[in-house]
Amino acid sequence: MRAEILAFGTELLMGETLDTNSAHIAARLPALGIDLHTVTIMGDEMGEMVEMLHRCMERSDLIICTGGLGPTKDDLTREAIAETFGETITFDPDLIAAMEQNFRNRGQDMPETNKKQAGVIPSVTVLANPRGTAPGWWAEKGGKIIIAMPGVPGEMVLMWDQQAAPKLKERAQGTVIMSRTFKTIGLGEAAVGEYVSSLFGRDNPYLGIYARPDGIHLRIIARAADQGEAIALIEPMEAEIREALDFAIWGVDGETPEERVGALLSDRGLTLAAMESCTGGLLASTVTDVPGASGYFKGSLVTYATKVKSIAGVEPALIEEHGVVSAEVAGAMAKAVREALDADVGIGITGVAGPGPQDGIPAGTVYAGVAMDGAVESTVMRFPPDRPLVKRRAVVMALLQVYRMLLERNG
Ligand code: ATP
Ligand code: MG
Repeated sequence: MRAEILAFGTELLMGETLDTNSAHIAARLPALGIDLHTVTIMGDEMGEMVEMLHRCMERSDLIICTGGLGPTKDDLTREAIAETFGETITFDPDLIAAMEQNFRNRGQDMPETNKKQAGVIPSVTVLANPRGTAPGWWAEKGGKIIIAMPGVPGEMVLMWDQQAAPKLKERAQGTVIMSRTFKTIGLGEAAVGEYVSSLFGRDNPYLGIYARPDGIHLRIIARAADQGEAIALIEPMEAEIREALDFAIWGVDGETPEERVGALLSDRGLTLAAMESCTGGLLASTVTDVPGASGYFKGSLVTYATKVKSIAGVEPALIEEHGVVSAEVAGAMAKAVREALDADVGIGITGVAGPGPQDGIPAGTVYAGVAMDGAVESTVMRFPPDRPLVKRRAVVMALLQVYRMLLERNG
């Protein structure tokens, strides 16, 4: 099945809003055996929308649209699809009643303008929108399918995952492509490659190796007639990777360092505390993105100024001797906060976020210290001198350092 994506929205053309909807859909088409050929971003302009839909109908079997289902005059996706199919929009009373009920449930009356969202054409089956007012459209005519979903990412993702994708799974018959990624820490690319060298060079499943900010990734890619067959191809290779490298794998597919560290701490009944300087509290924010973090996270002291580090228990003499951005101070921060907050594991982060150097230390230099079991380990990281990037990567590396040290202790 040959597919394209149309992302409607003038704000997408201005660069204010990133087209994350297309990325979400594109990432999920290979597993459905659907070949994506084009992604187009377009403004909300009726003539151009209709022209593009006609062109897509000539060259593709499936057109997936997002955006433009709102109640206002500049939301034109329904009108454009109706015109492309040569059909007239009518208003479905059941749909209007359901939408009115939806508003009443939230203690509101439905504005008259929202009725527009209950418009349908004969070729349409409606896709329910549990998170918003605009129903989606599954429009089908002459062997061509046009799916229209809301622009709001939260609504789109739910509609896609729960309704559009399962419906497409019944239809699509192409080659399914599935992948599984293993994320490692503590080894370089060459070393990871060596552990699994016998697995490279095969065609199906194929094994790729990639260096990423959170370590070296191994990715198995399998092609098959359906998802079951693809998984059957992936599993034996996965078993071999696990046998060779289980000690270095910290996560699979979309798993994050904060989730994995959280899971490991929970399993072992341990607690975590941090003292952050250049990350400005981002570690605390990241750790608390995980539901259940209160079970193991004690808190983080943001000790941005040097004097505040001393107030929080880091010896001024040590700072004087080694400099505030140093392995020694990172270790001392980890130790001090571990004691002050009575935690099992302490993290200390100190660095130069940039863009310029500080006391002769280049921007992007970050030290992370981790204290547990009476041991303190500090590592140095050097990132490109971009403040938000330095902060994000420092958090990832500090968390992975915790993960590695926990694994080394009775894994
Ligand atoms: P609604 O049904 O809620 O009225 P809609 O279908 O009319 O939504 P838009 O008005 O186009 O959707 O967009 C709603 C919000 O979703 C806006 O904040 C917009 O920036 C965002 N948005 C739209 N398209 C995309 C996209 N492709 N990727 C990410 N965000 C998007
Ligand atoms: Mg819009």
